Amino acid sequence: MSERASAYPPSFEYVEGWGMVEGHHSRVLRPASVEEVQDDLEGARKARVSLALRGAGCSYGDPSITRDGHVLDLTRLNRILAFDDESGVVEVESGVTLEQIWKHILPRGWWPKVCSGTMFPTTGGALGMNIHGKNNFRVGTWGDNTLELDIVLPSGELETCSREQNSELFHAAIGGFGMLGAICRAKLQTTRIHSGEIDVVGISTHNLGEMMERMDAQCSSADYLVGWIDCFASGDCLGRGLVHAAHYLAPGVDPEPEQTLTVAHQELPGSIMGFPKAQLWRALYLFNHDPGMRMVNAAKYMAGRLEGMAEPYRQSHAGFNFLLDYVPNWKWAYGRHGRRGLIQYQSFLPADVAERVYAELLTLCQRRSFNPYLGVLKRHKPDPFWLTHALDGWSLALDFKVTPKNRAALFGHCEEMTTIVLAAGGKFYFAKDQVLGLGDPQRFLSTERLEAFKALKRSLDPGNLFQSEMSRRLFGNSFLS
Ligand SMILES: Cc1cc2nc3c(=O)[nH]c(=O)nc-3n(C[C@H](O)[C@H](O)[C@H](O)COP(=O)(O)OP(=O)(O)OC[C@H]3O[C@@H](n4cnc5c(N)ncnc54)[C@H](O)[C@@H]3O)c2cc1C
Repeated sequence: MSERASAYPPSFEYVEGWGMVEGHHSRVLRPASVEEVQDDLEGARKARVSLALRGAGCSYGDPSITRDGHVLDLTRLNRILAFDDESGVVEVESGVTLEQIWKHILPRGWWPKVCSGTMFPTTGGALGMNIHGKNNFRVGTWGDNTLELDIVLPSGELETCSREQNSELFHAAIGGFGMLGAICRAKLQTTRIHSGEIDVVGISTHNLGEMMERMDAQCSSADYLVGWIDCFASGDCLGRGLVHAAHYLAPGVDPEPEQTLTVAHQELPGSIMGFPKAQLWRALYLFNHDPGMRMVNAAKYMAGRLEGMAEPYRQSHAGFNFLLDYVPNWKWAYGRHGRRGLIQYQSFLPADVAERVYAELLTLCQRRSFNPYLGVLKRHKPDPFWLTHALDGWSLALDFKVTPKNRAALFGHCEEMTTIVLAAGGKFYFAKDQVLGLGDPQRFLSTERLEAFKALKRSLDPGNLFQSEMSRRLFGNSFLS
């Protein structure tokens, strides 16, 4: 047995998607260096076993799990290699999380350009899916703010790529959902901030049309924009909710930047309304059914009406960006065992059709009695990555509860929504998907880009080493054909 194997043997574990509705027992390999990644690739090639790359496992569905192969978990590549506080460029190994990055750079007056709704994704996973934040309309995606990356190809070779060097690989691997190689290092641009707080304004809106109008009006000035939707409201109130627009503070506005730029100032409170936050999911569990969620959404809307009448307020960057992390393990409110959990159905639509189509989707959900328990609206802009989900338009993310009983009918409902979205020229996002079927990506990705991606996969990975449940679900076992 090699020294490494005895110190950190591969283990056999149950590995599931974040939404908990699918998981499989797999052998999990956890390399801690580029050399160990190369060893694991060589071992898998020799044993003719495929590998599913995995970061923190925060993708809702099945892109980082496999029933037929091993999981290559890259979270032990977790060192921050360098940070230049003149330029704001941070260099990290790919297992470094968003949380590690912001905690490292914030005290020096910098913040990640792009934050997902949770701080737990790794750099490799963020690049694999090319994640976006509430500021996508302004700064683009994680890939847009990446300067360079190293990737271990299926052959074991290490390639560096950027917009100038191996540009094709750079644009294909970012958003390439772990199909082309294991990203091991990246250089990222971060953004200068002059305070640990951000100015936030809440805008209560009566329906979807008003929400989109108010968000559009804020697009040229706000640094972040996000709309929360009460998906239970119907009729004239369909799509009612609350918009949050946030702005960075200009230099000199914060009287105490030394204090607000500390990690301690960002920490989320230990309790919420008296509940220790670690136990809060249990309280949410009690409301996790249609009548309960109707009440919670209505109460949130009423609170939003009050917020809309109040003055703008200041919030920490972590509090604003990682709201969902306020309630640890909140997903357990959806049930923890027996294929119970949640899916998020996030569709992207061109600006000119979005309002009509989202109204149709929300109405359809109500007609079919599949009410999303959470709805989130964002504004997006296109990016140059080959398999990108982004476009000049909007996305609406809808969270649905999954139980063994409703699963088949819910997935059928999603199929019905997918037909509507695709007919309207819409797109989907692999980080959130669990419901699309074989051949669906061909219906929304650029044919030219997809063909180029497949050609690159064939040339770099002729043995189809990198596979996942998602790759087989959407592209079949014959991804290479
Ligand atoms: C509560 C919550 C909120 C979220 N909010 C947002 C949001 O606002 N915006 C958004 O865009 N996303 C959001 N996400 C999704 C999340 O950001 C993405 O799924 C992200 O990819 C997760 O990163 P990960 O490290 O967990 O990767 P995983 O989920 O483990 O893997 C993601 C993909 O990347 C591949 N991969 C992983 N590591 C590597 C590597 N080193 N090299 C190459 N490929 C690799 C995997 O094979 C897989 O295809 C949210 C997720 C959750 C749970």
